[in-house]
Amino acid sequence: MYLRVSITDRCNLRCTYCLPEDAHFAPSRATVEELDRLMAAVVAAAGVTKIRLTGGEPTLAPGLVQHLRTAAWLVPTVGLTTNGVLLEGLVEELVAAGLSRLNISLDAADAEGFRRATRRDRFGAVVAGLRAAKRTGLSPLKVNAVATIDTDAPALVRFAIEEGVHLRFIELMDIGEAHATWAERHVPSAILQERLFATGFSLTETPERDDPTSRVWTIAGVDPAVTTLGFITTVSDPFCATCDRLRLSSQGRLFTCLFDEVGTDLLTLLRGGDLGGLDQAIRHAVANKAPPATFQRTAVMAAIGG
Ligand code: SAM
Repeated sequence: MYLRVSITDRCNLRCTYCLPEDAHFAPSRATVEELDRLMAAVVAAAGVTKIRLTGGEPTLAPGLVQHLRTAAWLVPTVGLTTNGVLLEGLVEELVAAGLSRLNISLDAADAEGFRRATRRDRFGAVVAGLRAAKRTGLSPLKVNAVATIDTDAPALVRFAIEEGVHLRFIELMDIGEAHATWAERHVPSAILQERLFATGFSLTETPERDDPTSRVWTIAGVDPAVTTLGFITTVSDPFCATCDRLRLSSQGRLFTCLFDEVGTDLLTLLRGGDLGGLDQAIRHAVANKAPPATFQRTAVMAAIGG
């Protein structure tokens, strides 16, 4: 099993499909220690072998380094998903704390496109963070871009080749803030692929996959050890049958599906001291993990961790 932990709801960007400009964030209900204990309980009860810290923006969470240390002690592979804005000054400490996989979310390959996508002027900071991460030797280094009708996919592919990173396009999901414009903005991966072929990229699909989520494509003339492409087809070709993901929120709730709105309140069980009940509740949730009734979610992505 693969556990994603949202360690804070807060974020320093306002990606148009994710958060409104005037977003209000619920303070984390679980303390750093409580979230670490819940992580440990889920790892033990569900047989987790990989943890990814996310958010909100995890680099804003004061407990980030401690959570990384705990996660690295619990499982062999510990990843972080970040917008990269604060990464430059942090990444060495994060690697020293046990970080082994890094995904940077970046929806545009230039400053103006970045500002339009995120409502903030932080493109340069993200690129500096990405380069600092490269210097640490973290590998594979991935950039995730949410695909919308505004996405300049060929420019992002060129950027990935130049910077020497792997690029994954994520289909826009009908979640929270994305709902109002989802139908007009969503672009299926097949259309993106057509666009890339049309602009001269020669792509070849490989039998490889990242986790269960995306097929890996190579680009003619580009070293696949350094740069590959992937398409996370959550909408056009959902991978529920092979999904092994669990999500723990900073409110101390466990979700077995990204589209689950309710989850299981693990924090109350932990605070009540009923550790047997906590273990049972996790096992029950995992045993009942099922595909969603609908691929729509009202709560914003930041609250569950993308
Ligand atoms: N702040 C961190 C970051 O930017 O990577 C971690 C949290 S963010 C919610 C995680 C990922 O979810 C980002 O790559 C973001 O672009 C993606 N995301 C947010 N809303 C989405 C949506 N409606 N559909 C698809 N991906 C979405």
